[in-house]
Amino acid sequence: MYNYGKCHVCGGRMEEAEIKQDFWVSGRLVVIESLPAGVCRQCGERVVKADIGRQIAALLGDQKLRRKARTMSVPVITFAKTIA
Ligand SMILES: [Zn+2]
Repeated sequence: MYNYGKCHVCGGRMEEAEIKQDFWVSGRLVVIESLPAGVCRQCGERVVKADIGRQIAALLGDQKLRRKARTMSVPVITFAKTIA
């Protein structure tokens, strides 16, 4: 198992996990799931290995892949209107 070292935020222990992570690509929200990452047990900070980072960039840059990916709907809340 890859050693993610200590958390750069709080110094906590990083553990490998498969996460769901959101990215904004050209104004659109894209979610990648089953993403291997190091997650801090204390503060929840997430880091990915450099090669995983490169693969993420390749996936996000693949328009065909994005077009044929399944989609999900998410709630959108306008803060100012709701809180005022
Ligand atoms: Zn941490």
